[in-house]
Amino acid sequence: MTWDVAIVGGGPAGLAAALEARRVGCSVVVLERQSLPVDKACGEGLMPSGLAALERLGVRERIPAADCSPFAAIRYVQEDGRFVEGRLPAPGGLGIRRVALAQAMSARAREQGVELREGTALRAHAIDQDGVTLHTDSGPLRAKLLVAADGLNSPLRKSMQLEKRHYGPVRFGLRQHFAIKPWGARVEVHFTAGAEAYVTPAGAERIGIAFLWEDGSLSGRVGFDHLLARFPALAERVKGATVDSEPRGAGPLRHDVVSRSKTASSSWETPPATSTPSPEKA
Ligand SMILES: Cc1cc2nc3c(=O)[nH]c(=O)nc-3n(C[C@H](O)[C@H](O)[C@H](O)COP(=O)(O)OP(=O)(O)OC[C@H]3O[C@@H](n4cnc5c(N)ncnc54)[C@H](O)[C@@H]3O)c2cc1C
Repeated sequence: MTWDVAIVGGGPAGLAAALEARRVGCSVVVLERQSLPVDKACGEGLMPSGLAALERLGVRERIPAADCSPFAAIRYVQEDGRFVEGRLPAPGGLGIRRVALAQAMSARAREQGVELREGTALRAHAIDQDGVTLHTDSGPLRAKLLVAADGLNSPLRKSMQLEKRHYGPVRFGLRQHFAIKPWGARVEVHFTAGAEAYVTPAGAERIGIAFLWEDGSLSGRVGFDHLLARFPALAERVKGATVDSEPRGAGPLRHDVVSRSKTASSSWETPPATSTPSPEKA
């Protein structure tokens, strides 16, 4: 058969695209090279528009209360305790543990008739007048439309010459969770020289801390504990709390594109696999 839509990547972008395509009656296959649900480096704070999308897609009701926390504001905090706060429009935002979001989205996608192929990587593709042929770990398939949802550093986007060179600061991120009751229904953004810390409630008994920093702005080793030590008030808050996840990093965070779509003929082969950098090096 020829699928209406083939999506490469079973992260939030790929699964949301799959659910939207099913809503308008398309047949959809998603290729995900890992096993679902996939955990990622993420601050895990969904703003009101993202939350509205989850409601619309029928995903919100599938997220267990233990893995999410509503928040009503974003608070910008200085180390001396001074802050400014922006209130969000109703119904506010939602902090969600990433694996719970991925689990809920993939379950909903299957329920809606999306074919999810886990452990299946795209290896090569070729576009012709009628669509695209995909060469995957589980054999070839045909589709009318190919969606590149293969992540921040998307090899597919690069292979299609859709990436635009980015000039300007390059940022990286690193996150970890702690088993601690959130101390407020808000996301906090703490500042120190060269870095920010985003504190997001992500469950009844969990907070996530995500650090963002600009390449070159920090000297010495960049690890989670070293970053946390730069925020003494925050470090004091989580002192003694049980660590609830492994540190995970990602970056560089910004990628620009020349266009969101392309129709010209093209073919591509997956570059050789490279090892994922450890979070400590991210
Ligand atoms: C530190 C940090 C904090 C953040 N905080 C927030 C936040 O608070 N709120 C927010 O909304 N966003 C936040 N983000 C951004 C958010 O995490 C990303 O926008 C989101 O993860 C992107 O999802 P995605 O589906 O595009 O990609 P991913 O989740 O990376 O999914 C891509 C998938 O494609 C698969 N894949 C790749 N290549 C292939 C292939 N060839 N074949 C098959 N599968 C393939 C991968 O295995 C992966 O599962 C943050 C990001 C970072 C790094």
